[in-house]
Amino acid sequence: METTRLLLGIGFFLFGLALGPWLGIAVDRVVERVSFRPEHRCTNCQQGQGRSSLIPVVSWFADCVTCNQSVGRRYLMVDVATAFTFAALAYRFGAVAVLGPYLAFGAVLIVLSAIDFETHLLPNIIVWPSVLTGLFLILVISGQLGYSEGISSALLGGAVFGGFIGLSHVVYAPGMGRGDVKLSLLLGLFLGWMHPSLIEATRLVFLTIIAALLGGGLIGLVYNRVRKLGKAEIPFGPALAIATITAVIVSPRLVDVVTY
Ligand SMILES: [Zn+2]
Repeated sequence: METTRLLLGIGFFLFGLALGPWLGIAVDRVVERVSFRPEHRCTNCQQGQGRSSLIPVVSWFADCVTCNQSVGRRYLMVDVATAFTFAALAYRFGAVAVLGPYLAFGAVLIVLSAIDFETHLLPNIIVWPSVLTGLFLILVISGQLGYSEGISSALLGGAVFGGFIGLSHVVYAPGMGRGDVKLSLLLGLFLGWMHPSLIEATRLVFLTIIAALLGGGLIGLVYNRVRKLGKAEIPFGPALAIATITAVIVSPRLVDVVTY
């Protein structure tokens, strides 16, 4: 059992590494407003780098073919984050039906975090379809597994997470953007789904929010100190996303409900 999960983790690490460059293209589509082409681009001169730029690891050290600016470093973070997130999720869940939705969830969070980090925006064109697809998958898979408690937990999770961040946005608008509120609906759905108990699902949502606020605030403080910036400029989206995916990986319930 343990060996199987370990092998699954290694397999999905490699799968994540191969998928990472494609997620990088999705980030470019939004950040650079370029059309879809299967290659990475130089942010300096917009030159496409050819299909070989989609080979992970090798491409991290590549310079632009035209202007020699480093191209790969920008995509490295997405590749590495995807590989480690996929490995951790696969090891955590094992080969069960819920692994698929959580892998898709992880991939969407990596794309959104990278976009938020570069542009301070969370585009509707990615967030809303993800919320709807997530809801659909949760309903269908919960139905097939006979895990009807999971549906109520997921809906409550989305409502609590979205509601709390929505309230923060109204009370303290500069800290939380409207994009963070929409993202929170998605985060709450997948967090809530972890727990059959409504109380436990709500507790997990609040613990995750506290972790995100502390983590995001701390990173922001250090970042501003190092860069000597006067005003805090922290995109909270990535902090919320990282706290949520960590909570999914370390929280010990869902596997007991649906696997054994
Ligand atoms: Zn260039």
